[in-house]
Amino acid sequence: MSNRRNRADSSPLDKPRPAAVAPAIDLHLHTTRMSPDSSLRPEELADAAGLTRLWAVCVTEHDGMWDGQEMARFRDGAPIVVLHGMEVSTDLGHVGVFGLDRYVGGIHRLSELRRIADAEDAILIANHPFRYRLDPRFSRGGVMFDPERPELAVGYELFAMVDAIEVANGACSAQENRFALAVARLLGQAEVGGSDSHSAGSVGCAATFFEAPVRTERELIEAIKGHRCRAASRAGSDGTLLAVSLD
Ligand SMILES: [Zn+2]
Ligand SMILES: [Zn+2]
Repeated sequence: MSNRRNRADSSPLDKPRPAAVAPAIDLHLHTTRMSPDSSLRPEELADAAGLTRLWAVCVTEHDGMWDGQEMARFRDGAPIVVLHGMEVSTDLGHVGVFGLDRYVGGIHRLSELRRIADAEDAILIANHPFRYRLDPRFSRGGVMFDPERPELAVGYELFAMVDAIEVANGACSAQENRFALAVARLLGQAEVGGSDSHSAGSVGCAATFFEAPVRTERELIEAIKGHRCRAASRAGSDGTLLAVSLD
């Protein structure tokens, strides 16, 4: 936890660049294997990732993980790197997890998830933290934030319990993503992105650039903890992935 708030002094990722230069990983994907709300079949993942020139994809089902042997077989047969995480529904929203190998009872409370993550050297990500929380027309209840005042959101208790903030989510509005980015910048927290795809067509619409290729969950965790990453989303008419910014 000690380096959660430490920002890297300088990064070669400061300028937007195409995905062909920095390895891009879609950190947030749901498949039919364990997410009933998804139509994305696991066997479609590699083709979809290839079309968008991703280096790797992360399977992050809702509140559960694939059996380890099943994931190992899937990885072995995939033409790209496949990483395995989970998206946990907690009392403070959806939280991405890397570094656990199973769902553990009680982690629907973020405080408990944090305790277990620390014990297992796992990493937590505040996924789409402002979805439905900025525009009263789309409110689902719960805490709302002033879209003009990101400085008032930095004290939200969620952010003290995560290692990174998802600032590019393919299923969020531009306003929600931009607000998350503004908050992450104010906090100096690591910034990541993922498509949150539930179908093949949107795989890679948001992703994370890494300074070096990442082949394992441990490498992913260390890169995010070290802030050696930057969120990206498809921009421009050709759909090229570009690092997100507040400009
Ligand atoms: Zn979610
Ligand atoms: Zn999700």
